[in-house]
Amino acid sequence: MSISLEQLLESRDARCRHQKELLASHPGDTLICLTVQFPGPQKRCAASLVVGGAGLAALLDKFGSVAHFTQVRDLETGYEAYLLVPLPAMLVKRLCCEIEDTHPLGRLMDIDVMETGHLLDRASIGLPPRRCLLCDNEVRYCMRAKTHSQAELLAKIEQMVSSYCESEKIVLHLYCDSLTGGTGSIGKPVG
Ligand SMILES: [Zn+2]
Repeated sequence: MSISLEQLLESRDARCRHQKELLASHPGDTLICLTVQFPGPQKRCAASLVVGGAGLAALLDKFGSVAHFTQVRDLETGYEAYLLVPLPAMLVKRLCCEIEDTHPLGRLMDIDVMETGHLLDRASIGLPPRRCLLCDNEVRYCMRAKTHSQAELLAKIEQMVSSYCESEKIVLHLYCDSLTGGTGSIGKPVG
């Protein structure tokens, strides 16, 4: 299912409202919000679900034993996972950036960390901005300049997700059906 710009903007607003509600419901906790970075109007497909699932697993690995709250929202506008943890935001941000920077699919994950009224950025813990998937530029530079076509980006993502599935022996037919179909199959909707 393709998502319109209006739906995309609406989903951002809804996510922002949800984040505020979660923070208000657990005063003092730090909120982690995982989304999948996926170009184009198709935000929910086999590959994006593999990335979301892998991101959630990595977060649960680090924070599962202390999390006060965990929630997954598998939406047409994209995968969202939320965790509330009783840990200092700076520490949480550091651990989440570690996932973004070292997990084989980390570059496809967007892990926001916030405390009430404050979103932490990479600069606040001394990390450089994130790099583009395809070149050495900052990701925001290539997005703004539209340096790469959507097809190039999706091909790179398909390659990353395929080799991850291979190495992790992910055999869920749901995932593999759409990943073994060759170029262009990545956007195939699931379910
Ligand atoms: Zn680039």
